[in-house]
Amino acid sequence: MKLKIYNTLTRSKEDFIPLMEDPNYHWPKKDFVGIYSCWPTVYSMPHFGNVRAWFTADLIRNTIKYILWYKTIMVSNFTDVWHLVWDGDEGEDKLEKWSRIDWISARDVAKRYEEIYTKFFQDLNISPFDYTPRATESIDDQIKFIQDIESKWYTYTVPWDWIYMDTSSISDYGKLLWANYKKALDWIQAGERVDLWWKKNPTDFALWKFSPTDEKRQMERDSPRGIWFPGRHSECCVMSSNHLWSQFDIHHGWVDLIPIHHTNEIAQSELVFWNQPRVKYRMHNEFVLMNGKKMSKSDWNSVSPQEVIDKWYSYLDMRFFFFTTHYRTFFDFTRDSIQQAQNTRRNLVKKISKLKPSNLFDDIQSFNQIEDKLKSEIWKKFRTPIMEAVCDDINTPQVISTINSYIGEANEEIVAMLYRLEINFLKVWLFDSMEEEKIEIPQEIVNLAQQRIQAKKDKNYALADELRNKIQEAWYKIKDTPEWFEISK
Ligand SMILES: [Zn+2]
Repeated sequence: MKLKIYNTLTRSKEDFIPLMEDPNYHWPKKDFVGIYSCWPTVYSMPHFGNVRAWFTADLIRNTIKYILWYKTIMVSNFTDVWHLVWDGDEGEDKLEKWSRIDWISARDVAKRYEEIYTKFFQDLNISPFDYTPRATESIDDQIKFIQDIESKWYTYTVPWDWIYMDTSSISDYGKLLWANYKKALDWIQAGERVDLWWKKNPTDFALWKFSPTDEKRQMERDSPRGIWFPGRHSECCVMSSNHLWSQFDIHHGWVDLIPIHHTNEIAQSELVFWNQPRVKYRMHNEFVLMNGKKMSKSDWNSVSPQEVIDKWYSYLDMRFFFFTTHYRTFFDFTRDSIQQAQNTRRNLVKKISKLKPSNLFDDIQSFNQIEDKLKSEIWKKFRTPIMEAVCDDINTPQVISTINSYIGEANEEIVAMLYRLEINFLKVWLFDSMEEEKIEIPQEIVNLAQQRIQAKKDKNYALADELRNKIQEAWYKIKDTPEWFEISK
C-alpha cells in the first residue's frame, strides 16, 4: 500500500516516493529519507502550537520509519538567535529581551528553554531526533550562504541597516502560498509596524542586519561585511543542508510558517542550491484552538500544556489526545474533548492491558511487512484498515477508531499487530495498566463540595449553584448521592 501525503507545494495528496526511489532524482545518491522540522525559538514555555508541531514531526518520522520501514534522518533545529518580538524584520531580539529581563546571558536563556522543551517532548514519548542543531552553531555557514546569494545579485543593501533579498527578481516567489499569495501579501503589508519605505518590495526580507554602532548585542558576529547579526530564514536553509544535503524529502512545520518563514526559506535555498524543488514534500500541521477560537491570553481563552499536565491530565493522555484529530485540521481544545480522549484511552488500556502479545512478529520491524506473515484471511481485516488509515495522509483518528472496532475480536495475530503499532507508532502504553493514574481530588475542591452540601441544607440554592459552578470551572464534576456526594474529574 502506498502512503499518500498532502503536499502544500502542489495543494494535493500525492504518493510518497522518496528521492532515493524517484527516477527523476539523480545526485547525490541517498540511502535515507530526509525529514526536517522547523522548531520554535527557545525563549519561553512551550505552548500548544509547539506541542502539536512536535507531535506531528514525530508522527511523520514514525510513519516513514516504522510503518514503511525506510531509514530516516530526522533533523529539528533549536532557534537560539535573532528572533524578533514579532515576525517582521524589526523589533528587539526575543532572546536579548529575556536576557535583559532575567539578568542572564542570551545563551543561558536559550539553554534553559532547550532543557524544558527536551524534557517535555521526552515525557510525551517522542523519541530523540537524529540531529537537533542550534542556529548559533551554523553562523559561519550562514555567512557563506548569504554571500552566495549576494554574488548572484539578488540582494540590495540599505546602508547601516540591512542587506535585503530582492524578492521581485525571483520568478516563482510565493509559490507555497498559491492562490493565497495576494491575501498573504496584504497581510504582510498590514503587519508592518514601521513604515519600511526603504524596501523595494513589501515582501523583501532581511538576510542580515548590521549591528548598531552605539550598542553591543550578545548574538552579533564579525563577518567580512562588518559586525552583524543574521536574519531569520537563512538558518533553516543551512542547518537542513548540513545534515540532509542540498535536496531532501520532507520539510515540516506548522501552517503559521507558510507565508513568511517557509516562503523565504524556499526563495533563498532554491537559488543557492539550484534544485527545483529543493524539498519534495512540504507538510504543515494546523493550529490549535480553544473552545473554537484562537488561543489568546488577553481574552482568557488560553491554557498552557504544562498547566493541563500539572492540574488534570497525564502526558500520555495528551499524546493520545493529539491522535484524535487529523494533523491537517484545526485541533479544538475543550474540556470535553480532552476528557473524552482520556476516557477513550483508559477504556482501551482496560481492554488491551489484559492481552498478552505473543512473539509472533518479533522478527518483523515494519507494520507494513506483517501481511506476509498472517496466517488467516480474516485477520487481514485489522491490518488492512489500519494501513489504509495511515496511508491516507496519516489519518490518526481513523487508526484509533479501527482499533476500537476490532479489539472485541482480538486474537493472537491482532494482539501481536497491535503491539507492534503501539511500540513504534502510538506509544500511549496501551499494554501497560500500571500506568493508570489514581485521581486525587484537591482539598480545596472537597471543601467547596462540602460547603455546597451545607448551602443546600440551608436551602441557599443560589450559593449552592455558585459553588457547583466553581467546582466545574476547576474541571471537576460533582454528583449528589443519597449519602453524600461524588467528585470526578
Ligand atoms: Zn525553519
